[in-house]
Amino acid sequence: MKHLPHFLLAATSLLLLAAPAHASRLESWRFDSNRNQLEFTTDEDVQPKAQLISDPTRLVIDLPGVILGRPASTQSYGGAIRSVRLGQFDRSAARLVVELAPGYTIDPNQVRFRGITARQWTVQLPTPQLLPPDTTATAPSGGLTGGSNQSSTSTQIQGVRVTPDGIFVRTNGGSPTLDVRRSSDRGQITIDVQGATLALAAPRDVLVNRLGVNRVTLSQQQASPPVARITLNVDQASPDWQASTSSVGGLVLLPTSKVASSGEGNTTPAPVLRPGALATIESIALENNDSQLVVRASQPLKYTTGWDRTTGAYRVTINSAQLAKNVKGPQLEASSPVLKLRLRQETANTAVILVTPASGVLISDLNQPSQQSLALQLQRSRSPVAAQPNPSANIPVPVAPRTDPVPPQPSYPNPDPPRATNGRPVVIIDPGHGGPDPGAIGIGGLQEKGIVLDIGQKVAAILERQGVQAVITRPDDRDLDLEPRVQLAERINATVFVSIHANSINLSRQDISGLETYYYQSGLNLARTIHQSVLEGTGIQDRGVRSARFYVLRKTSMPSVLVEVGFVTGRDDAAKLSDANYRTQMANAIARGILRYLGRSS
Ligand SMILES: [Zn+2]
Repeated sequence: MKHLPHFLLAATSLLLLAAPAHASRLESWRFDSNRNQLEFTTDEDVQPKAQLISDPTRLVIDLPGVILGRPASTQSYGGAIRSVRLGQFDRSAARLVVELAPGYTIDPNQVRFRGITARQWTVQLPTPQLLPPDTTATAPSGGLTGGSNQSSTSTQIQGVRVTPDGIFVRTNGGSPTLDVRRSSDRGQITIDVQGATLALAAPRDVLVNRLGVNRVTLSQQQASPPVARITLNVDQASPDWQASTSSVGGLVLLPTSKVASSGEGNTTPAPVLRPGALATIESIALENNDSQLVVRASQPLKYTTGWDRTTGAYRVTINSAQLAKNVKGPQLEASSPVLKLRLRQETANTAVILVTPASGVLISDLNQPSQQSLALQLQRSRSPVAAQPNPSANIPVPVAPRTDPVPPQPSYPNPDPPRATNGRPVVIIDPGHGGPDPGAIGIGGLQEKGIVLDIGQKVAAILERQGVQAVITRPDDRDLDLEPRVQLAERINATVFVSIHANSINLSRQDISGLETYYYQSGLNLARTIHQSVLEGTGIQDRGVRSARFYVLRKTSMPSVLVEVGFVTGRDDAAKLSDANYRTQMANAIARGILRYLGRSS
């Protein structure tokens, strides 16, 4: 259950001795810049406090009672989320500060704290948004949008580069204000760059002949105050273009919709494929009042999702699929919830859809309404990103979950037989993590996600052989959030829910191994029965049945448990969990516990 490398190892015992008697330590923290997720683990329960502070925008998380016992440190990421700093705020609290790049903000209402346990927290940040342009600036005309940023300090334009999907203008200096216009005859798009001069070496005329653009010219429109002009000579039929400043410096010019490639430049060769083996993606459209981006195909779709590190877009990778020759995304209006949509045939049998949400739009989920379609949920935040963010916005943090050890007891026949669907129980098996999220990483790089998938698949197979219907939430190495796991269980009205995870602690504590089984409310009997069966079946050390407010336990209405099958950081457990025979033994023991609970065996 615990997560990932420990960038910051435990303080030495000497420093610990120097700390106040009830101080707790920060055992690890990590920021996943792909998912905008911060995770941290302390050695004792903690109740974080959080606020968003502007100018510059930063999210401040205080950890009362936590003593670092080491110097402050900063990790830099270089995107819109620029860095995460860790330091000792005062004698009794440590402080984590998530700093945004200048000109960016986040909606404080969309910052989500989740207490996995009272010692382990995740903080999900929304995608940072560019602050709106100065309200006194002239509004861009003609449906074109101009990204902009704070004050126009001096900027120098250095060069022009044509990219696969647009034009990149290399600059030095500040983040200038941009003004985008299209001529009334539609033949020219001009981008005026306030405060900018042309470098001597900058080209004045660049032949493009792609994306509906014939050439790009640069000129010094005005000397004082300086204004440089970028002119795109375009086909009258070409889409409008937008300009924005890039967080890495430079200007990004992009068409507002996909440009039909008319035989020139960037045509992707049609892949040669085995007929029938691939799904053809036939349409991609905004539906249901623009609340969904729906992808439809000729055959069932398999996909993975995640945030793309290089483009900053939400990436949907569809395996065994090809884009139909004429498939286009929807026409994107200025009011569209999607700022930018890119379709790409990445390999002969992998199609990729990159979605950049518009400002204030949250990509909340991707679901599969039918096997042949995908629906990406686009949710407008209730309060659009404010032009004037509060100087300081307090962010609600849920009350820390409690983890009370429950003394293990011998299993006994379940006094209250569980509900069944058509007389046949349905068991949800939920292997944790997957895809880009490896879960805990232990000795020798042992990954939680692979171990729990193997055990989960084996448990499901054993149950099926015993006439119990088993449904697995994550059948392969895919990315899957917690919500869809719960939704699946609720949708099929499962009898019980069994989540399978592996534990971790610092690699400096390889002496810690053992089984922990968690429940919340109605799962106690199920937890005890499985726990006892695993102790008997594997000889693993006993770390007890415990209650915890884990999401998958709280949100499921049927008895549910989370089995931590051992520590990937533990010398004993890691060696055993690496062995396929031991994993089979573990799966047998878990399945036997479930069957015993269901009254299916002794
Ligand atoms: Zn886990």
